[in-house]
Amino acid sequence: MLIDLRSDTVTRPTDEMREAMHSTKVGDDVFGEDPAINNLEALGSSMFGMESAVFCPSGTMTNQIAIKCHTQPGDEVICDEMSHVYQYEGGGIAFNSGASVKLLHGDRGRVTAQLVAEGIQPDDVHRPVSRLVVLENTANRGGGSCYDLATIQEIGQLCNQRGLSFHLDGARLFNALIATGQSAHDYGSTFDSISICLSKGLGAPVGSLLLGKKDFIKKARRFRKVFGGGMRQAGSLAAAGTFALQHNVIRLQEDHNNAKAIEKMLSQLSYIKGIMPVETNIVIAECVDGFDVQHFIQKMKEQNILFFAISPTRFRMVTHLDFKTEMLDSLEKSLKTIH
Ligand SMILES: *Cc1c(COP(=O)(O)O)cnc(C)c1O
Repeated sequence: MLIDLRSDTVTRPTDEMREAMHSTKVGDDVFGEDPAINNLEALGSSMFGMESAVFCPSGTMTNQIAIKCHTQPGDEVICDEMSHVYQYEGGGIAFNSGASVKLLHGDRGRVTAQLVAEGIQPDDVHRPVSRLVVLENTANRGGGSCYDLATIQEIGQLCNQRGLSFHLDGARLFNALIATGQSAHDYGSTFDSISICLSKGLGAPVGSLLLGKKDFIKKARRFRKVFGGGMRQAGSLAAAGTFALQHNVIRLQEDHNNAKAIEKMLSQLSYIKGIMPVETNIVIAECVDGFDVQHFIQKMKEQNILFFAISPTRFRMVTHLDFKTEMLDSLEKSLKTIH
């Protein structure tokens, strides 16, 4: 039995999802004629009370298109220093949009209105023009931490007052909604654009949605084509996404419960020094000084348990649809063989 805790992207479509993919009608989406994609875009935007949506191959593309739509070359994007848009999108903010970045030092990947306010550039010819604020919820490098809605709304008001656009990297937004009980509509009414991933905890094989106002999504479709993301009969992928939104949201609670169980397990091991508070499906742990994390990961791999180191002293485990509660026992047994 393989226990794969490397990421929630490793899930494979279930038989039911494959059936939904197999039986769907398709058409040419660049012509706007794929019924399954149109259906998914309508479902996604209605869930958030937003006007429109566009289906893209990846969350990197939805984020990058959003940044491209909101900025001009030379503008500045404000985000936390751990943000996926800055750390893990290949320098795309510079490459695709020619924008500079103002990094904020947040708390576990989350920023505050005060930090954002301090990051906005003064109106001065020497400075780049602050144009866009990007939040990430849940925050990946923050160990799956969640924002308070009040903090998000405060930042939203600040953006309104200062004429900045407001984008959410919601790759794992549904994890945050399930963990906090917040409503999707509150997010839809606060952000100018939202990116959600269907291929993470929701278990679809491919795809992300970018949500926003009609005009914004019209512009986004143009950039999707430029970025090479205009797909043709991709409705089978969209059918998987629709299935995921309809069936795999509520069950995220199981992933959170399993992550909590792993947190408890790790807290009892002598080689674990500390664990970031576990709020959703991500567990980040720090090992005691002198402990060889790479060797540990190798030893666990020999027992068919996979996860990644994220620094010389820390590792990350992520729960998901294909991590079953029954696997907790063998995980614990293996972890206990390490000293
Ligand atoms: C996974 C992820 C994305 C998008 O990644 P893709 O692999 O391109 O779909 C964006 N933001 C965060 C926080 C992520 O974890």
